[in-house]
Amino acid sequence: RPRALSGIQPTAGSFHLGNYLGAIRQYVALQESHDAFYMVVDLHAITVPQDPAELRANTRLAAAQLLAAGLDPDRCTLFIQSHVPEHAQLGWVMNCITGFGEASRMTQFKDKSAKQGADRATVGLFTYPILQVADILLYQADSVPVGEDQRQHIELTRDLAERFNGRYGHTFTIPAPHIVREVAKIYDLQDPTAKMSKSAVSPKGLVNLLDDPKVSAKKFRSAVTDTDTVIRYDETEKPGVSNLLTIHSALTGTGIPELEQQYEGKGYGALKTDLADIFVEWVTPFHERTREYLGDPETLDSVLAKGAEKARAVAAETLAAAYDRMGLVPAK
Ligand code: ATP
Ligand code: MG
Repeated sequence: RPRALSGIQPTAGSFHLGNYLGAIRQYVALQESHDAFYMVVDLHAITVPQDPAELRANTRLAAAQLLAAGLDPDRCTLFIQSHVPEHAQLGWVMNCITGFGEASRMTQFKDKSAKQGADRATVGLFTYPILQVADILLYQADSVPVGEDQRQHIELTRDLAERFNGRYGHTFTIPAPHIVREVAKIYDLQDPTAKMSKSAVSPKGLVNLLDDPKVSAKKFRSAVTDTDTVIRYDETEKPGVSNLLTIHSALTGTGIPELEQQYEGKGYGALKTDLADIFVEWVTPFHERTREYLGDPETLDSVLAKGAEKARAVAAETLAAAYDRMGLVPAK
């Protein structure tokens, strides 16, 4: 079986609809065909300041949401990144083969540090893509399910894996991004040209999975569209309507051309109200399942402990090979 690996940050508490459609749904699907490793990336979360109690709670909450979304600990390996110290260890190795200029070209750092103010951005935020490279290479992943915003980081991963292999002999599998075009970028409901994001400036267009469904329904009903009246998919002319069609199609499994037909002659209001209902119907059982996993911390911790153990076995083997190839003397 090919390997899949991905990680998700526990920073905001709730995942949002972009995380779910762009990434988590693909995690669930790849369990069937891949030897899949998924982790809550707490080491990435601390690249920006975190309140310790909140981080602890959010990390468990993230794991509970992943299980609620359909990850099955019998069919995948679910763990917390910091439980596997090899991530930080291989991360250092990768730092040492990355060019400073190369790291400086990562657009996500530019965006995030600009938002924070350049003086407040940490070195950790700057090197976070390099830790992500280590995350992926440790598991010899073939496939990395992510949203479009991660494409550049996967490209860096491929470059560094090839560089290491070229210098020291074949050590790492070269991974490919698994990006599902239709849902690779879900947009903010109030600003349909911006990616829906945890760190959005305003929460009005951000659909958090764990918000009160009534609040989310209202966000759908007041989504920004355009002054035209036709319900038609057109990313450049009609980004708001197109985003709503994308979400509708992803949640119901109805193709976009069929949706266009279904809504012919109907107003934007009908599409928004329907979508609000569809979302609430989908998210309500998700809330229940998340609550169940949170309500049983023993089971949750045991899933995560078993996951970490399985992950460590794989990660330790890769790290040992990398150290050895580079000439680090093994401890006797
Ligand atoms: P931030 O904006 O702080 O980076 P985020 O919303 O991007 O947060 P992450 O934890 O960085 O959340 O991303 C987790 C996964 O969700 C990644 O694979 C990312 O590509 C994907 N993702 C995030 N936002 C979207 C979106 N709007 N549409 C599709 N996929 C997304
Ligand atoms: Mg992100």
